Amino acid sequence: MAGWVFVDEILASDEQSVRALCPGDPAVGWRQAMRRAIRDPKELCRRLELPVSLGNSGAAEAFPVFVPLEFLSRMRVGDPSDPLLRQVLAAEPETHSPAGFVSDPLDEQKASPLPGLLHKYHGRALLVTTGACAVHCRYCFRRHFPYQSVPKSAAAWAPAVSHIQADSSIEEVLLSGGDPLTLVDSLLGQLVHSLDAIPHIRRLRFHTRLPIVIPQRVTDQLLELLTELRATPWMVVHCNHVAELDEATLAALGRLIDAGIPVLNQAVLLRGVNDSVEALEQLSLRLVDHRVQPYYLHQLDRVQGAAHFEVSEAEGRRLIAELRTRLPGYAMPQYVRELPGEASKMPVE
Ligand SMILES: *Cc1c(COP(=O)(O)O)cnc(C)c1O
Ligand code: SF4
Repeated sequence: MAGWVFVDEILASDEQSVRALCPGDPAVGWRQAMRRAIRDPKELCRRLELPVSLGNSGAAEAFPVFVPLEFLSRMRVGDPSDPLLRQVLAAEPETHSPAGFVSDPLDEQKASPLPGLLHKYHGRALLVTTGACAVHCRYCFRRHFPYQSVPKSAAAWAPAVSHIQADSSIEEVLLSGGDPLTLVDSLLGQLVHSLDAIPHIRRLRFHTRLPIVIPQRVTDQLLELLTELRATPWMVVHCNHVAELDEATLAALGRLIDAGIPVLNQAVLLRGVNDSVEALEQLSLRLVDHRVQPYYLHQLDRVQGAAHFEVSEAEGRRLIAELRTRLPGYAMPQYVRELPGEASKMPVE
């Protein structure tokens, strides 16, 4: 059973009027943008003038398609190998399951003291705040995560918050998911303030794809919430290809940075998306041109349904060695993989 939840539950209370505006229009609120996201692989193909046979509904049953128009608008029409489309279109190869590709590749359920809390690394705990995302990435390592057990109200987070409060070795909380910024500001605010009130928490880190996918999410209200914290906020966004960085997205990242919030980017090395030196170079350069620091380049986690995205580590090492000859040192992401049971992400060497 796939663990995803649709964002509808979270958005149900929202009564913004429906307006027919163009994709990327800043007048479309972020929740509205989520509500009108494409959820049918055939519709995605039709919008891009591609044969509908490319979209595989069987694969979409196990993990539904979810693509906001803001993200769709950055894809090339008529190109079945567009690097953004490839990340989000439910495709036939997902239904193949080679040996070694499993539902919980990181054995995360073992590192979970409570539903929704992962404590694997020294000083840092990860809170799975929600099962909802602003886009469904086909290679996602948490595509089979048991999100049903994730708290869905501020009160339901209380046990995780108490656990963090009782363990003074935890000085940083990562808000992850799903995507924590799919939470409406009132709910996010309650959670964030309850964590901010714990004296030994020094940093709150948000792992999110929302500023990339739906840049309207970076609202004044969000900036206010983040800049009024006692703890230091850090933002880790997730962008795999330079074409994801359109003007509206770069402006949203700029607003976060202007507000004093450090922004890092993590990417996943993906076959057919960014598995060339040029693609990785362009991504890093565009990020640093806009003050965003490349952080990690992840080796793909071997999750069921994602085998066709895998780039071998030998190939990855070759790409990284070449990339190093082209980029300033500060623009180099760390090429890492995650191994169950290890005390940190491991450099691929
Ligand atoms: C990746 C991860 C972290 C953060 O690791 P950093 O190397 O600090 O970015 C923390 N907790 C869990 C469970 C993780 O998977
Ligand atoms: S946004 Fe992150 S958590 Fe959500 S589907 Fe994509 S990779 Fe997975």
